[in-house]
Amino acid sequence: MLVTKIQRFSTHDGPGIRTAVFFKGCPLSCFWCHNPENKSFDRELSFDPKICVMCGACEAVCPNACHIVKNGGHEYLRSLCIKCGNCVNICPAGALEFLGKEMTPAEILKEVLSDKAFYGNEGGITLTGGEPLVQKDVPQLLELCDESGISCCFETSGAGDPDISKTAASLCDFFFVDIKDGNPDRLLKNTGADISQLDANIRLMDKYARNKFAIRAILLKGVNSDKENYDHIGGVFKSLKNCIGVELLPYHALYGNKCLRIGLSDTSCKDFVPDADALKEAEVYLKSIGVVVI
Ligand code: SF4
Ligand code: SF4
Repeated sequence: MLVTKIQRFSTHDGPGIRTAVFFKGCPLSCFWCHNPENKSFDRELSFDPKICVMCGACEAVCPNACHIVKNGGHEYLRSLCIKCGNCVNICPAGALEFLGKEMTPAEILKEVLSDKAFYGNEGGITLTGGEPLVQKDVPQLLELCDESGISCCFETSGAGDPDISKTAASLCDFFFVDIKDGNPDRLLKNTGADISQLDANIRLMDKYARNKFAIRAILLKGVNSDKENYDHIGGVFKSLKNCIGVELLPYHALYGNKCLRIGLSDTSCKDFVPDADALKEAEVYLKSIGVVVI
């Protein structure tokens, strides 16, 4: 399993205090993704020019001349990189970092078990990403956690593998599933997703859910902040039996530097950040059509 980060003492990824495991790779391509480092299924090298001290050590050890440090600047030629790790290991400033570490389910469990004392009655592990439900070893990891008395939760885009999604829903105490847009054409254009497949996956997870779950709906002003989207959310919500409600997540534009550090274009845009009035309007409308907003 390719893991980008294990974040301890998380309080925003499910009930109680949790250890959030971020998996690398997602089949969708949302331009608003605030974790762009988890989009690619490959290990990536992150370079942060803001903390580079221009010492030239990376240039000296790179076998492919990927780093050019001269005249007070540092150019990184990403396409030439063979991911040998020489520069990462020698950089004194921490400006270079590999994203993505191969871990077995047993290795992840070991990390999670070291936090068990902090979980209390509600906490545990949350699988997130990226899209965790395309990692083929997720069922094994969840079974290991279950056997060890660790409560499991996951966060999914809805675009997981249907078999893994079904199994995960049946083994977890809680989960969050996204609804990104109710307009099929817009959804396809902005994320690459097929709305009927996402909806089918939500219903499948609802059918096999061990416990309850919540929908998360990201709101981008001028992109999906309209009644067509809200009506779709309402229709899906009312068709489910185990969903406790819909959480509205306002888009934020704070991920631009993360994009640039891994060689992606900065797609962040402040124009899409919804103000308090837009959020309230969405909440009022959703409630008016029978949606529980949490
Ligand atoms: S990982 Fe290796 S090939 Fe890539 S930039 Fe660093 S030293 Fe060069
Ligand atoms: S080794 Fe690190 S600090 Fe030195 S030039 Fe390379 S990236 Fe910058």
